[in-house]
Amino acid sequence: MSTETILVLGGSFAGIGAAHYTLRHTIPQLPKKQGTTYIVTLVNPSKDFYWRIAGPRAAVSKDLIPRAKYLYPIEPAFAYAKGKFNFVQGSATHIDTAGQTVSVTTASGQQQSIPYVALIIATGVTTPSSLFTNSADLESTYDEFQKSLLTAKHVVVGGGGPVGVETAGEIAEALNGKPSFLSSKPKNPRCRVTLICADKKMLPILREAISLTAEKYLSRLGVEVMYNTKIVSAQPTGDGNTVVQLGDGKTIEADLYVDATGVRPNSSFLPKELLDTRNRVASNPHTLRVDAAGPRVYVVGDVGSYTRGGVMDLADAIPVAMTNLKTDLTAYITGKAPGPDRHYTANMKEQQIAPIGTGKGVGAMMGWKLPSFMVWFIKGRDYMIGMLAVPTVNGDGFKKEGKWKPQQAVGQQGLSRG
Ligand SMILES: Cc1cc2nc3c(=O)[nH]c(=O)nc-3n(C[C@H](O)[C@H](O)[C@H](O)COP(=O)(O)OP(=O)(O)OC[C@H]3O[C@@H](n4cnc5c(N)ncnc54)[C@H](O)[C@@H]3O)c2cc1C
Repeated sequence: MSTETILVLGGSFAGIGAAHYTLRHTIPQLPKKQGTTYIVTLVNPSKDFYWRIAGPRAAVSKDLIPRAKYLYPIEPAFAYAKGKFNFVQGSATHIDTAGQTVSVTTASGQQQSIPYVALIIATGVTTPSSLFTNSADLESTYDEFQKSLLTAKHVVVGGGGPVGVETAGEIAEALNGKPSFLSSKPKNPRCRVTLICADKKMLPILREAISLTAEKYLSRLGVEVMYNTKIVSAQPTGDGNTVVQLGDGKTIEADLYVDATGVRPNSSFLPKELLDTRNRVASNPHTLRVDAAGPRVYVVGDVGSYTRGGVMDLADAIPVAMTNLKTDLTAYITGKAPGPDRHYTANMKEQQIAPIGTGKGVGAMMGWKLPSFMVWFIKGRDYMIGMLAVPTVNGDGFKKEGKWKPQQAVGQQGLSRG
């Protein structure tokens, strides 16, 4: 009796979704091979899944979003797959594509070498600010940040994307209060909050009119916005403040600085020949196979070169990559592929929603502008925790396999969110 491992690296939106999909739809449909069992092994540094989407509010208030709402244990979510699922708390450190093994350092410091018959890379991205990336210290990072906010007189947030906009709004509302009905600015703000955008508008994916509405809502909470301003560096001073150096040579001194200027792919454990020029895992944009890594290696989620990122996009990608995995494993077992490849098509429609404080928000879905109350209803109430956090870790969005036709654009299925 032998066991073959489908190895998933990364236990967040993409890796957890891929593992559920494989257990529910890929392994059960493989042709039976005498004496061989297929299992899924998931490797992740934390035993908990982090609902990163809520980071901007969780960082600011444990009353609004306590720990139990942003961290969810991974292993119990796979209880239905007893004997077919294995969780390893650790980090991949090296991949040997010729030998088809991955080296892992476990949380207790042990070295393991895990052989794989198929590999799914879903190691995602790290944010420059520790407020938005899961770590063993996340709760204490939030405690410390919330303590510093109590005395802050000037907070600078760098980055005009949704994370910067949402974070500036949450901080300003927590410190300056909710605006009164007709006011355009708080009368006596407790804290100055400055949002620095490198471009001429915030929220680059959205049309200008929506960005201007976001600026108006931020202003009501006491956020000042600087456009066309690059941040060159942010250096801590001896007294706990930060000096933010701007591209035009000027500096701003802040009590607190939150860096929301972008993300870095978690790909340093992979050989250079598997990466593109942005250090993303270079995949076939249609099949999501990592062709340079040899047979049966795939990428899903934000670490992949095929995507502009986001959870809706990876929800489209998972069924594609996992269907191709089923095809490739069947061919491996029987010597014959059961059908053609499934293809991924990127959804490039205007699509993003950003709450601004607990009451307002802006955004668009499938190219349609959403009114503020809809953004609040979908995301602003609780950053979608009530609607989607437990279903995501349980893989509920992938309970059904979903139909597809060869070469047809892939519609959205599985998870569905902004
Ligand atoms: C603050 C914030 C708010 C966001 N809000 C939204 C939103 O509202 N809507 C939306 O669509 N998108 C949103 N995003 C983007 C969304 O969070 C990402 O698209 C999503 O997290 C990507 O999921 P992923 O599984 O690909 O990677 P990640 O979530 O980055 O997870 C990667 C996982 O892999 C693990 N890992 C890293 N290295 C290794 C290794 N060597 N070995 C094993 N495991 C490893 C990590 O610890 C992590 O658990 C937001 C992002 C941020 C930062």
